[in-house]
Amino acid sequence: MPIYEYVCKDCQKEFESLRSMSQADAHIACVACGGDNTRRKPSVCYSESSGKALADSSSSSCGSCSGGNCSGCGH
Ligand SMILES: [Zn+2]
Repeated sequence: MPIYEYVCKDCQKEFESLRSMSQADAHIACVACGGDNTRRKPSVCYSESSGKALADSSSSSCGSCSGGNCSGCGH
């Protein structure tokens, strides 16, 4: 299950939440102020064919990507 990053527009708090992909854009309350003026941050992972060899997907989870090529974290 991937971790998504969210940011609160009210207090600028950035936090992460472990959610299923289907819930990635679902509403989430700010962990700091409890407000609902939050939005999901764009993933830092991009799917690209860099030619980099990948280990099996079960060990390549880097938090913000769910496997596959990830130029943001080196996975
Ligand atoms: Zn907040």
